[in-house]
Amino acid sequence: MLGWIYQVPILMHPILGPATTKANAALAICMAAIATLLLSKQQEQPEKRAFSFYTRLLVFAISIIALATLSEIFFGLNLGIDQALAIDISAQINHTHPGRMGPNTAMALLAYSGSLLCASSGRKILQNVSAVLALLVLAIAAFALIGYLYDMPLFYRISRFTEMSITSAICVFSLTVGFLCLFTDKGPLAVLSQDTPPGYLARRLIPFGISLPLIFGWIIMRGEESGLYPIEFGVAILASAMSVLLTLSTYWITRVLSRADEVRKEAESLSAELKSAQLARQRMSEFYSTVSHELRTPFASIRAGLGILELSKNDLPPSITEVVKVSKQECDRLTNLINDFLDLSKIEAGSMQLQMGSCALEDLLIDAVSSIQYLAAEKNISISKRLEANCELICDGELIHQVLVNLLSNAIKFSPPESTVSLSAKCLESKVLFKIQDMGPGIPAESRSKMFSRFFRVRKDTEENQSGTGLGLAISKAIVDQHGGKIDFENAAEKGTTFWFELPSGQCTEG
Ligand code: ADP
Repeated sequence: MLGWIYQVPILMHPILGPATTKANAALAICMAAIATLLLSKQQEQPEKRAFSFYTRLLVFAISIIALATLSEIFFGLNLGIDQALAIDISAQINHTHPGRMGPNTAMALLAYSGSLLCASSGRKILQNVSAVLALLVLAIAAFALIGYLYDMPLFYRISRFTEMSITSAICVFSLTVGFLCLFTDKGPLAVLSQDTPPGYLARRLIPFGISLPLIFGWIIMRGEESGLYPIEFGVAILASAMSVLLTLSTYWITRVLSRADEVRKEAESLSAELKSAQLARQRMSEFYSTVSHELRTPFASIRAGLGILELSKNDLPPSITEVVKVSKQECDRLTNLINDFLDLSKIEAGSMQLQMGSCALEDLLIDAVSSIQYLAAEKNISISKRLEANCELICDGELIHQVLVNLLSNAIKFSPPESTVSLSAKCLESKVLFKIQDMGPGIPAESRSKMFSRFFRVRKDTEENQSGTGLGLAISKAIVDQHGGKIDFENAAEKGTTFWFELPSGQCTEG
């Protein structure tokens, strides 16, 4: 465009060739490029109607230029548009219509504008028409380029009319490739963008398939023209090179496909394994519920029997009363152990379904403290409760209650009498943080990694007399993990431990 306006030959003829890109063609190509850019914006922001309005305006202008030129060419008219923008002083002597673009350029521009119009409509059927028109434009430009490469005027010039210039061919070709790339999810390029074996093969083979024969053909033709070898030799070399390339690419395709087949088989066998693992999990959960029932029921009866015996302790000799007392304690211990073990196994087998619901943070704290108050009272320990802003938390209330009770009972168990255990909770953005702080002996650094393992107890010997199964923390961790949260602890600088757990974002709503 600038070349025509300021009459600068190098801009009109940037690449040596017989024809210039005419001023009208240059203007139409510029408008086509802007319209393509607007179309890409329209894809990103379909709600902005201005993009589609300006795209259509440009499409209209391009089609007017192309249609007017075609009617001049085919009906022998002179509408005065050929040199309306600039005088074509570089026209060849025998050029009857200076400044007029070739019919193939005009057809390509008309098809391109049609393609843009159909694409901007957004309707599926028109999207297909758009892709066909774009492929037509691509073919016209590619023919012209091959014509220039092989010195075949038939490919870039129709009859006695002006040819499509090499610069127009390059511009139209690259513009159309860019246009097709806008629709990699549904257009003809969809297969290229797929993350599948066919997409992988197409991305690698198509560029070679297009360029290699053209390059080989060109080299061999130039060699033959400069007398290096006779034409028969050139054709034989070309045929051999093509057959070697085809064989190599067929071999490569076979390898890629067989690799893809192996991956598919691996995936199938993994999915079969996954299914059998799920089945095993389901069987395990059925087994747990049976065992749970079978063990809990007799223990409940024994416990009830021992309770009745204890009521009539005045009628029993002191030695029997002691046996009843110890048996009852052992019975409680075993029932707790069974319950803990079954809870943990259920959680780990994935058969414990979370009953998610909305719980007020304050209620969770109050319920946990009242469940554990009797333990604290035995040691004269006071529980301080601190809530920084109440909020509604989406969680399985029963299980979170169990975690709080586990951590609080540990804190009470390991704190000295007459001390204080603090329980606090706060809502941070969209997560909730609970803290349980005690004044106990703390946890030695070497035990840190094992704290949440099953049956682990820090002070095995001294804890012999303490109630507990060594499963409480493992269960608490499993519950918090199941909620997608985190649990850990820190030793205080002087004395005591702070256990904390947080439930993740998205689960806290302002109350
Ligand atoms: P248990 O039922 O025995 O309390 P847990 O899994 O809850 O089982 O705890 C495991 C072990 O971790 C306890 O036996 C104890 O040694 C140690 N522990 C837990 N909480 C505390 C605490 N607050 N202070 C000191 N030690 C603790």
